[in-house]
Parts: sequence; C-alpha cells; structure tokens
Amino acid sequence: MSLHGKSFIAGVPVVSGTDTFYAFDPRTGEKLEPAFGESRSEDVNAALQSAEAAFEVFRKTSATERATFLERIAEEILALGDPLLQRASAESGLPQDRLIGERGRTVGQLRLFAEVLREGSWCDARIDVALPERTPLPRPDLRRMLLPLGPVTVFGASNFPLAFSVAGGDTASALAAGCPVVVKGHPAHPGTSEWVAGAVNRAAAACGLPAGVFSLLQGSRPEFAIALVKHPLTQAVGFTGSHRGGRALLEAANSRPQPIPVFAEMSSLNPIFLLPGALRQKSQEIAAGLKVSVTAGVGQFCTKPGLVFGIGGPDWDAFTEAFQSAIRSVAPGTMLHRGIREQYCQSAARTSQTPGVALLAQSDSEAEETSTQARPLAWKTSAQTFFGQPTLQEEIFGPATVLIEACDLGELRLAASKLSGQLTATVHGTPEDLADAGPLLEALERVAGRLILNGFPTGVEVSPAMHHGGPYPATTDSRFTAVGTAAIQRWARPVCFQNFPETALPVELRNGNPAGLMRTVNGKLTRDALGQ
Ligand code: NAP
Repeated sequence: MSLHGKSFIAGVPVVSGTDTFYAFDPRTGEKLEPAFGESRSEDVNAALQSAEAAFEVFRKTSATERATFLERIAEEILALGDPLLQRASAESGLPQDRLIGERGRTVGQLRLFAEVLREGSWCDARIDVALPERTPLPRPDLRRMLLPLGPVTVFGASNFPLAFSVAGGDTASALAAGCPVVVKGHPAHPGTSEWVAGAVNRAAAACGLPAGVFSLLQGSRPEFAIALVKHPLTQAVGFTGSHRGGRALLEAANSRPQPIPVFAEMSSLNPIFLLPGALRQKSQEIAAGLKVSVTAGVGQFCTKPGLVFGIGGPDWDAFTEAFQSAIRSVAPGTMLHRGIREQYCQSAARTSQTPGVALLAQSDSEAEETSTQARPLAWKTSAQTFFGQPTLQEEIFGPATVLIEACDLGELRLAASKLSGQLTATVHGTPEDLADAGPLLEALERVAGRLILNGFPTGVEVSPAMHHGGPYPATTDSRFTAVGTAAIQRWARPVCFQNFPETALPVELRNGNPAGLMRTVNGKLTRDALGQ
C-alpha cells in the first residue's frame, strides 16, 4: 500500500495547488513521506458541489442500503490491515495496542449505526391521524419524522486518528442519517486519513452510491477550514479539538447569511469530588485509579480529570500523599504532535505561576523535548484560590491535574456551582456521604453531561444511553451527544407532512409500517400498523 498525498473529491485523488505539508513522527521528529497537497478554495467548492449532487440520491436511500454501506466501510477498514496501524502509530506516537483498540471502536461504531438503521425507530416517526369531525375545527392528518440535513463537514480529531477522524463517530452518524460528508483531515495524521478515505470510497462504489457522498480534503491552513464552514452548501459541522478552534468554527457558522449548527466538542475539566466517607475508606484506591485516569494516553482524552476536590483533614492528606507518589512513578509519554506539547508546557507554566497554587508532584523522569514528551504533573491549592483564579478553569490537555482542598461540604457545593460546562462530573462517596450530598449532586447536574459515581470519567462507552456532551464550553450544543447512537440526531431535522396521501409519504410514515418501527401514533408508542 502506498500513499499519493492527494485529497479525495468524490472518490478521485486531487491536488490542485503546489503547496504541501508533511506529517511528522512525534517520537523522533522525523518527517514522514510523502508530501500532502494543501487544499484550496476550489477544492472546497468541488467537494461540496459533489456532496450536494450526491445528497439528492443519498437522502432517498433506504435505511437498509445505508446500513450495508456502513458495514462495508467497516470491512474495508479492517482490510487495510497492519499498515494502517503502523502509519497511524508513526503519525500520532500512539502505541499499536491502543490503535488496535481504537480500530475496533471505529468498526464497532459503524456497525452499531448500521444496527440503529436496521431497527429504524431513530427517525422518531409520529402520526396524528385526521379528525375530520372534530369541532369547532377538524384536525388535519399530521405525520412527522427526522430527515437528513444535507452535506456535513467533519473535522478529524488529533487524539483519535481512527475513532474520531475520517470514518469516526461524526462521519458514521452523519452517513447513517443520510448526509454526505466532507472531512477535513487533521494535518497531524494525513496518511492515516488518506487510507481510511480510500476505504470509504471503495465502500461507496461497492454499494453503488454516488461518489460525492464522501470527500476528504487535506490541509493545514485555518482559512481553508473556515472556507469549508462558510461554504453555502455545508449544512452542519462536526468538530473535536481545542476551544479556540471550535469557537472559530462556531463564529464562522454564525456569520454566514444562513447560520448552520456546529457540534463542537471542545474543552472539559471533568471535576472529581471526593466525599469524606469515601476518602476514609479508600483513599489509596482512589489515588491509584486517579493516576491511571489522569495519565492514560498521556492525558490526551477529553474526559481526563483536571480538577479534584475534597475536604481538608487527615484522610485528604493521606490521599494527597498517595497521589503524589503515584504521579512521581509515571514516566513521561509522547504527545500527539509538537503543537499539543507546546500548549501543554504553556498551560503547565501558567498553572505553576498562579498565585496560591503549588506544585504537588511531577514524574521522577524529565520529559524529552526531542520525543515530544509530556511530564506528568499535579498541583494543589485551596477552594478559595480556585474561586479567585478563573484560569484554573482552563483545560490542561495532557497528564496533569489540580487537587483543590475545601473546608467543608458547603464549599464543595459552592465550587460545583461555579464550574463552567463539563462533559463529566464524578463523585466518590459512601451511601452515608450521598445522603448529605443532594445539593452538590444537583449543582453538578446543572454543569455536566454525564455524572459518574465511584468511578473515573475516562473510557467512554459507545452505546444507546451514553451522553458525551455538556454545556458550553464543553460543547457548543449541550442537547446533543458526540458518542453513542443518539449522535445521529445531530444530523437530522423534523419535517411534518400534513394531509399527504399514503403514496407520497416516506415509507416510515405509511399506514402499514412495513419495517415495524416504534412510532408515536395518536400520542402512544406502538409498532402496530395503522387501522389495525
Ligand atoms: P485543534 O487545534 O483544535 O485543531 C483541530 C482541527 O481544527 C484542525 O483540523 C485544525 O486545522 C482546525 N482548527 C483549529 N483552529 C482553527 C481555527 N482557528 N480556524 C479554523 N480551523 C481551526 O486541535 P489539535 O490540533 O488536536 O490540538 C490542539 C489543542 O486542542 C490541544 O492542545 C487541546 O487543548 C485541544 N484538544 C482537545 C480535545 C478534546 O477532546 N477536548 C481533543 C484534541 C485536542 P489546522 O490544524 O489545519 O489549523
């Protein structure tokens, strides 16, 4: 398998300009061949014109046809074999074992959305039959369901080169909904992106779908990313990355003549609250679990815990001491790219210089700059300092966390209420702790999308009940999830058909309900056909 360094527009390898960029192995700094062509505005236009043309066909495909397409993409990705894993490892510094797991997740997500389509009820079909005799006014026949938005632009994430990139969760859910996808590959892993895009193209061809259903544009320039969002044919955007990047895309989308939804998953501190009984019973166990959650994957998960709160006293001190030695024992690891390492070093320096914040622990080994390594770090401070220093609420992307000592439960609750929006919030507590923790839990419910009890936030299950979202700045729209089957809802909008004859309705809304969907008929959930 070789790489050509071109983008794919509707299945065709394209390079329109002469400017190029390269991937680098973050472990060695080595430049990786080949050069990749920088996409230009004409590429953006060509990809979106193809996507729009494909939408006319793709939106009318059956759920089964789209399910077969997703399953075929999964097969094609697996068929890429070890070279895909080797290239992804070289471009990201992530170990092969982690990438084997991530490939499993990527393929699993595609198959899960295929199942969602085959079951079919995701489209939320609702039928209110006509009441012609109703007085004073008759009721018309009303039938509503979710239909795809149109072409979607997806930004590949650096920290999941497979599961949140070219054929990752955003792409899988958008294709499932019936939306063509134009991916902006992350410039840190263009080779991985090219191969996965080839797999999607082959699947589209094998399924007889128009090639414009998928395009991959490669490039490293912000203006090209903004052009994708501003293109009038783009109807929604999916993004995982920095607050700065997500915010730029949101503002670009809002400044369009036709503003469009941006589903950006950005920054979260994933606070953990340790209640007194839990600290008394298992401070060592919590310290060991926290070490793994903070440092796994070199801390490059959006759910890494960045703030840990507890009430001062001997049990908190015992936990702090155990966590201190745990952090010292973790070796520095290679980060995804140099920019992320620089950002980590800057955030760490800012935290160290924050008045009232002291360094608690650092890895016994120094990080090697030449290997793009990050040194695990922990700081300690008081709740009062946390209240007075807003920068402590800025994400530190990497293996670092801040322990915050409160004086009592009231101060813990106050800290919870002052938190900005989060993907997750975690509480460790005994049943007795929880009996007193109602106000704290209520405060956390207001700021976070997922509440975890006696566990850790890293490790996000891909399943129907998962919610991976939260109030701003965790995401740009707290009502939706980026992970799990509900992610498909982002790419569809309700359309209501009033007084349409049976033959002119989408099959999901017809009387016979041939697919046996769960539908809301006259206000009641049922799989029954109408008229039975
Ligand atoms: P990033 O800088 O946000 O980049 C992600 C994508 O967005 C890239 O394709 C990038 O394109 C584009 N982009 C970024 N800023 C943009 C702007 N102002 N205008 C238009 N497009 C823009 O993310 P990253 O490279 O993965 O990592 C940088 C930082 O992001 C990390 O240090 C971390 O703080 C954060 N991050 C957070 C998460 C999370 O899950 N919360 C995940 C990954 C990263 P170009 O590179 O081509 O400009």
